[in-house]
Amino acid sequence: MRILRLERPDPTRLIEEKIVIARELYELWGEDLAEDEEISPLLPRYTQAVEDSNRVMEDFGTFEECYVCTVIDKKGCCKIGLENECTVLILLLNLILGVEFPEEREVPGRCFFVGPRGCKILARPMLCRDYFCIRHHQKLSESQMARITQVLNEELVLLHQITSLMRRRLEAWTGDFLLELDLTGYGV
Ligand code: SF4
Ligand code: SF4
Repeated sequence: MRILRLERPDPTRLIEEKIVIARELYELWGEDLAEDEEISPLLPRYTQAVEDSNRVMEDFGTFEECYVCTVIDKKGCCKIGLENECTVLILLLNLILGVEFPEEREVPGRCFFVGPRGCKILARPMLCRDYFCIRHHQKLSESQMARITQVLNEELVLLHQITSLMRRRLEAWTGDFLLELDLTGYGV
């Protein structure tokens, strides 16, 4: 098992190392995790919950607002370093769900996972999903915000359940105390 080199603060190196570890774990344990009797039924529920959240946010115009902010106003908040909100467990979950990671940062100064059509990964960390800036709060009604919170809650609870189970299984199977699986990397 590789050890993350925590003394290096470079966000690109850190996410690259996390991806290497996630790929190693996927090779060794991906199939077992995907077929685990507790984890496997949660996977389609999770992808459905992500779709449901996306549909509600699309309907309420938050994706459009983020597009205008990012592409037209040249602002946007998917900045370099935020990719490290992804823990190894979240990366591993993406691999189990069939996501392919980019080999390098496509847009300088932006998150490692930003592409021309937005975020390239399916399982995204809580900060990415549950962050609504002032632009959104000015446009969304209270009932719309409540509805978004409701659908996101289902998605994020499932994300927590799945990654917690994955961690427990990996600890049991490897005998390791895998603290680094939950590492984000900030403040390193
Ligand atoms: S959340 Fe706000 S700051 Fe971030 S891209 Fe969307 S509109 Fe812009
Ligand atoms: S939403 Fe995707 S592209 Fe944006 S910061 Fe999160 S992981 Fe990166």
